[in-house]
Amino acid sequence: MSQERIESMMDEKRHFAPPADSRGRAHVSGEAAREALVRRAAEDPEGFWGERAAQLIDWFKPWDTVLDADMNEPRIEWFKGGRLNVAHNCLDRHVAGNRRNKAAIIWQGEPEEDVRVLTYQMLYDEVRRFAAVLRKMGVHKGDRVSLYMPMIPELAVAMLACARIGAVHSIVFAGFSAVSLQNRIHDCEAKVVVTADAVLRAGRRIPLKVNVDEAVRQCPSVEKVVVVNRGSLEVTMEEGRDLWWHEVMADRTLDVDRPCEEMDAEDMLFILYTSGSTGKPKGVVHTTGGYLTYAAHTTQWVFDVQDDDVYWCTADIGWITGHSYIVYGPLALGATSLMFEGVPSWPSPDRFWRIVEKFRVNIFYTAPTVVRALMREGTDWTERHDLSSLRVLGSVGEPINPEAWMWYHTHIGKGRLPIVDTWWQTETGGIMISGLPYATTLKPGSATQPLPGVDAAIVRPDGSPAGPNEGGHLVIRKPWPGMLRGIFGSPERYRSTYFERFPGMYESGDGARTDTDGYFWIMGRLDDVINVSGHRMGTAEVESALVAHPSVAEAAVVGMPHAVKGEAIYAYVTLGADAEETEELRAELRAWVRKEIGPIATPDVLQFAEGLPKTRSGKIMRRILRKIAAGATSEFGDTSTLADPGVVSDLIEGRLQLT
Ligand code: ATP
Ligand code: MG
Repeated sequence: MSQERIESMMDEKRHFAPPADSRGRAHVSGEAAREALVRRAAEDPEGFWGERAAQLIDWFKPWDTVLDADMNEPRIEWFKGGRLNVAHNCLDRHVAGNRRNKAAIIWQGEPEEDVRVLTYQMLYDEVRRFAAVLRKMGVHKGDRVSLYMPMIPELAVAMLACARIGAVHSIVFAGFSAVSLQNRIHDCEAKVVVTADAVLRAGRRIPLKVNVDEAVRQCPSVEKVVVVNRGSLEVTMEEGRDLWWHEVMADRTLDVDRPCEEMDAEDMLFILYTSGSTGKPKGVVHTTGGYLTYAAHTTQWVFDVQDDDVYWCTADIGWITGHSYIVYGPLALGATSLMFEGVPSWPSPDRFWRIVEKFRVNIFYTAPTVVRALMREGTDWTERHDLSSLRVLGSVGEPINPEAWMWYHTHIGKGRLPIVDTWWQTETGGIMISGLPYATTLKPGSATQPLPGVDAAIVRPDGSPAGPNEGGHLVIRKPWPGMLRGIFGSPERYRSTYFERFPGMYESGDGARTDTDGYFWIMGRLDDVINVSGHRMGTAEVESALVAHPSVAEAAVVGMPHAVKGEAIYAYVTLGADAEETEELRAELRAWVRKEIGPIATPDVLQFAEGLPKTRSGKIMRRILRKIAAGATSEFGDTSTLADPGVVSDLIEGRLQLT
């Protein structure tokens, strides 16, 4: 960043005190308790993390050192010498304890009547069985297994089976194309691929196995493909390579009684490719002891999960959010995790609320893009359901603009529930900056404060700490247990992407500022920051102002080259259901931003758009919007993670010139 400051103009004054911990059982209760934990973790990080790792995780052998690290190299080792198994922690110990008959996973399929409840005992049995299947196929500790599956319980079974035998899973979101899948299988040289015949989505049956056939043709590492029958779709099974899940699981000769593999704390657990919002996806590597400790720790504190809760994270397991907050975190805690196969909008926009009512969900964790989409549908859909079981709401994936936060709070939280806005990344393994539901005063649009033990800071381009309201680079100055340990196969990319620019610190790539209360406001990716006549603006702020207008459903803002100002502001705006695309409205929206933020932020160009280009995890790809705005429509780079390529051609057609 050439500029010293990122100007910030957001002026959010509302705040919400945490609800009283009336039953006296919150994991962290009250602001003073939280502050004491922050102090304790800062004074004695190793003591703090060692204590959490001992409380939350079962170790076959305790560690020799809590932390051995140097972020300059980088070399990061947590709980060195410790031995454990992730599946043992998520299953075996709960079965041996008193949770044998508790629901581990409540699964709601795409068709309303498709419901399965797997108790800890049932999940444990399935996992041991599939672990034996993998072993019989010749999968050994350290081998990679690619999982390309719908949101069905078999996906969780396959993950845990890999963990049980020490194999490394690499999950590829089932919405990805054959080419994206091929790249990811190729990159990690998977020996086995687990998939399904089809994905059920919005009332349709989408073939899945065909993509595997196409992808695997170019991947000589793949020896076996296991196929779950989800949609009874006809598929071709290649002799000697392809096997049906239900057949291999029925094998009577399987050795299901083998104990789980004792893993080293720093043995690899999984590889997961990032969403690719900014370019070529990175194969982020997570290891065993630190990752599991961090996933369990954050699930417990951030969502205040209690033993009798029904906890629901709506993410797809193909993203890190699903890894940490559908499977590993909740199951390590022995919690009940709800898993949903479908989409929020089908068969009607109240699908989520119907599920909340049906299973009496207590904790609900979703993404701003979902909140904005459901907000657009109006409150008739929320009002027809009993949402009174809800206790804690969460948000992840993008900055949640204050307007969407307030809608979520008012219509889902009925004006009383805390919303934890959780900032983190695939690379961080778990939540880094977030409120705690019974211990943090919330401000709509702010991720609030770093969790105890997380040393997050905003720094200037020279690495010195930025002052209040001075935007800059969001960095983490101390190692935390959930941090990535590499980019698979690219040690140099790992070092240069995260540890080069600010020596001794982890660089997130996001821009943020802290306000005078020390609250963090994420401004978006630094690649997206706009520079108008020397004023640097985060995209989140201009977009928030636009979305605050009653006619606007969603907005994305990018910079475009401008001879005088350096950059001009180009805004793409999706209108709400009742609004009309008129010149008057265009002028009104520009005036609105001018009034809300200031003349400097007025969009120079405002294009109405039916839809915005998003990654398959629902994030706006501003990189592409920047190219369209600049008229450079032939050089989009890697678009393999784009959800709906059709959107892009519509946007190119509707492109407006700077006048
Ligand atoms: P790539 O790194 O390949 O471009 P990506 O960064 O979109 O992909 P993820 O790791 O899935 O992949 O997303 C992490 C990013 O999402 C963060 O760096 C941040 O920009 C954004 N993000 C996540 N949660 C929040 C949040 N609560 N508030 C603001 N931004 C968030
Ligand atoms: Mg990223």
